[in-house]
Amino acid sequence: MNGVQQVTVLGSTGSIGVSTLDVIARHPRRYQVYALTAQRSVERMEQQCLEYRPRYAVMLEARSAEDLQQRLRRAASETEVLGGAEALCEVAAAAGVDTVMAAIVGAAGLEATFSAIKAGKKVLLANKEALVMAGSLFMQAVRGSGAVLLPIDSEHNAIFQCWPASGSGVSKILLTASGGPFREWTWEQMQAATPEQACAHPNWEMGRKISVDSASLMNKGLEVIEACWLFDVGLAETEVVIHPQSIIHSMVQYVDGSVLAELGNPDMRTPIAYGLAWPERIDSGVAALDIIGVSRLDFRAVDVQRFPCLDLAREALRRGGTAAAVLNAANEEAVAAFLSGGIAFTTIPAVIETVLGQTSLAEPDDLAVVRQADAAARQLAQAVIGRSCR
Ligand code: NAD
Ligand code: MG
Repeated sequence: MNGVQQVTVLGSTGSIGVSTLDVIARHPRRYQVYALTAQRSVERMEQQCLEYRPRYAVMLEARSAEDLQQRLRRAASETEVLGGAEALCEVAAAAGVDTVMAAIVGAAGLEATFSAIKAGKKVLLANKEALVMAGSLFMQAVRGSGAVLLPIDSEHNAIFQCWPASGSGVSKILLTASGGPFREWTWEQMQAATPEQACAHPNWEMGRKISVDSASLMNKGLEVIEACWLFDVGLAETEVVIHPQSIIHSMVQYVDGSVLAELGNPDMRTPIAYGLAWPERIDSGVAALDIIGVSRLDFRAVDVQRFPCLDLAREALRRGGTAAAVLNAANEEAVAAFLSGGIAFTTIPAVIETVLGQTSLAEPDDLAVVRQADAAARQLAQAVIGRSCR
């Protein structure tokens, strides 16, 4: 490893990918970029390749790969361009790679993230949907390969930082949620919400899919499932707390009455830097927290009547098997339909509930079973969306 970590960034052109490269650029003697990957943002990828000089750049779409190759050739870049889903898995598992940032959005990241885990890499997990879909398989693969799985989601990163070295004495995980842009909105107001309003998160700048999930609180639902797998706790040992300022990123409550919290400015470069350098600490570029400027921290319970997605996620976890994969697939389809103007924001939970109710579940013995459940749920979701189109 010659002291320099070779890093593959899956989803480098997205919000987490860009923040990851920002942290890496601050520490050129610690990190080198082995590979960058994206779906189709050729221009941004070209610029990243010229700046970070990765060994490989992978574009999911063949036409984008060709386009990138021509651009890089003109710029006399030495980066080798690959195309397709197989190549994503290859650069995640390659022998020369130490660390993989898993930052593809949604189910699309499942195979590449899994491939990094099976290869025993240090995996920085932002792609929560992959873990939600196949939690038992993921955790089994981590144990089998010796991979180091570090959570990047700010809540889970905070919990990881507050977790006891002994692993004992924890009574509860307290996941904080900002409440999103519709925290104070009535159901009637949410019925008329536009994609732009849903994506205007008050505290965090993120990709569009996770922004909508934050507005519906499905993001918190996915995070409850994520926490149960990562920290090996049951649903009863998790609680979601609305904390509008997003300064406390989550907390761990102990049997002796102590509660440990991790605080900071809401900027994903903090958990990313923590994951990259763990167990050390490095500069992330994030400003120090001005605690006097913050001055107050508020907390309240979630209104599950207005935000039914949270309970749908809990229900999927209770049902087990492929239920969480079905939930995730139905949510992805519903969110895409909302973002393209097909359905109302408040129809998102209705689509998910119908799909969950109409799907027979299987035991996720391998990724193929999970993928089948995902595909069947998407098909059903499309039919439900078709009937709900406005
Ligand atoms: P984003 O939409 O900004 O970026 C997604 C990245 O994935 C892009 O590089 C895109 O090219 C790539 N991608 C999209 N579809 C793909 C496909 N089919 N195949 C291959 N690559 C594909 O998303 P984001 O906000 O950066 O989120 C990434 C992941 O991190 C998500 O799972 C999200 O839940 C999680 N996360 C994000 C934040 C945040 O602040 N943005 C915080 C916590 C967790
Ligand atoms: Mg989060």
